[in-house]
Amino acid sequence: MNPRQILKEYFGYDAFRDGQEQLIEHILQGGDVLGIMPTGAGKSVCYQVPALMLPGLTVVISPLISLMEDQVATLRESGIPAVCLHSNLDAQQYADALRAVRSGQVRLLYAAPERLETEWFLSLAQTIPIAMLAVDEAHCLSQWGQDFRPSYLHILDFLQALPERPVVAAFTATATETVRIDIKRLLGLRNPYELVTGFDRRNLRWIVEKPKKKDDALLHILARNRDKSGIIYCISRRKTEEVCDMLQQKGYAVTRYHAGLSPEERSANQEAFLRDEIPLIVATNAFGMGIDKSNVSFVVHYNMPKSMEAYYQEAGRAGRDGMPAECTLLFGANDVRINEMLIDSSQDNDAMTPEQREWVRRKDHERLQAMIRYCNLTDCLRHYILRYFGETAVTYCGNCGSCLTETETIDATIPAQKILSCVYRLKQRERSCGAKAICEILTGKATKQIREQGYETLSTYGIMQDTAEQQLRHMVDILLSRGYLLQQIDRMNTLALTAAALPVLRGQETVEMALPKRDLQQTLREQRLQAMPDYDMDEQLFQRLRKVRQKLAAQEYVPAYIVFSDATLRELCIKRPTDADAMLAISGVGKHKLEKYGKAFLDALHEYAAESV
Ligand code: ADP
Ligand code: ZN
Repeated sequence: MNPRQILKEYFGYDAFRDGQEQLIEHILQGGDVLGIMPTGAGKSVCYQVPALMLPGLTVVISPLISLMEDQVATLRESGIPAVCLHSNLDAQQYADALRAVRSGQVRLLYAAPERLETEWFLSLAQTIPIAMLAVDEAHCLSQWGQDFRPSYLHILDFLQALPERPVVAAFTATATETVRIDIKRLLGLRNPYELVTGFDRRNLRWIVEKPKKKDDALLHILARNRDKSGIIYCISRRKTEEVCDMLQQKGYAVTRYHAGLSPEERSANQEAFLRDEIPLIVATNAFGMGIDKSNVSFVVHYNMPKSMEAYYQEAGRAGRDGMPAECTLLFGANDVRINEMLIDSSQDNDAMTPEQREWVRRKDHERLQAMIRYCNLTDCLRHYILRYFGETAVTYCGNCGSCLTETETIDATIPAQKILSCVYRLKQRERSCGAKAICEILTGKATKQIREQGYETLSTYGIMQDTAEQQLRHMVDILLSRGYLLQQIDRMNTLALTAAALPVLRGQETVEMALPKRDLQQTLREQRLQAMPDYDMDEQLFQRLRKVRQKLAAQEYVPAYIVFSDATLRELCIKRPTDADAMLAISGVGKHKLEKYGKAFLDALHEYAAESV
């Protein structure tokens, strides 16, 4: 069988996604590879397909037990013999796994990096031919990555101790140059084929909201995504508890996850979410690495995360099944302060020299700035994300909060001049203010700060009192994003003029702005209504098939999405196959799953058809 046939037979997919085929070809020819693909792009297939073709065992190094177990369960469901070795197995399970490996049946062996250091693992590895070593989440090798794992550094020792060096395939979603160089060096990759696939996930809709009350905004999002599965990320354990309590009080079925819970509760909550028993989970960023639940339809960030890298990874857990999904960030002014505090207090890594520590701190601040810019963006969010990860992209995607906001382009030279001159007048008094205070001065508010500082006497006080607060703030954001204004990080984020502002102030340059014509929320609500008759899909049938899936999943002790993804169920609802061949044509249905589950679903479809005549 060739790679494409294997993809169809075992995984049930008709075509490779971007980059998969090239990586697989290189591996099969015996070359090392480094695959850089965003979360959800399908890295696993890149080593799982060759693992079925190469003579010998494939060892997969993976950082998390939950990740390994999930992968192994998925493989077994597809009829591929795989086992994992980690510290949570009991003696019997261990012995069973080892026997299976020794018998030569097993195609893929998943192991935590710590396992590599043990004597017996080495002796096992020396008696069984290893054809490939796949390193998942390879950025764990690098100190400059986000999740440095010292035990990853032993992978090279392990490789060198093997009688014959297998082909090495490394995968990560982290694209930065430093991390890439580290991976190649620390794994001793030999002239690797490097492939970076597009970071764009077109089915994800990016939205930033700056709500007055985050709880209300969250409830709106949940209403918009009724009956769907979602993750709500909060910045702290306390916030996680609060938000979860709030939602429970409102009657939502929701669970929680953070490092302050007992291990038992943590894993029970996680399981309930993975098995679709509870559709919503509120969590800190401790949740999610290795969670590849495919039917997460939305991810909300209740707080701004610390970097675009972290954001893209967490939000990227939405829409893995390729269905439309929504990623919303709720931004509040407090988020900046909390993140700054977190950076300054997280510098207690003893292993670093003071210089290293200072360097890391600076980098963290730069990353935070980029994140803040994202939150204040009025231009296409997707464009910004892709540019951040080093890709070129069109400036209008049509599927983000900015692009979906109906705007009207106006000549905003006069309001721009008013805003800029307010900053200028303050500067004359050797003062500077943040965006919020500037808006308050311009609209003529009488806040404590304004009274105490005597800002009522500024010539710009109250000159924009007819402009709605939100509109004004929007204009300030545009001036910031276009570089007429600058946020002074070292001065409590107060605003200052740049050289670019002078021609505007002197009336030598005009400023056009695209301002929101109507509320984004309204657009989103209407779209949802329009989208209701989704894909010609019969909701009743879908629910029926979900029940069938739930039952099978319970019998097999696996999460529902491992039986079939939601995307597969949807396709079943639309195409309604009546025999095995037609069923095999559905994306996500491979030979093995057809044999195992085909009948149950065909029966359900048949029954439904009989009832509906
Ligand atoms: P990641 O890159 O984050 O490790 P996964 O390997 O978990 O992503 O893949 C994400 C999802 O995409 C999985 O549900 C997987 O089965 C699916 N997938 C992978 N390759 C394909 C393909 N060629 N066609 C359709 N779905 C695919
Ligand atoms: Zn856009």
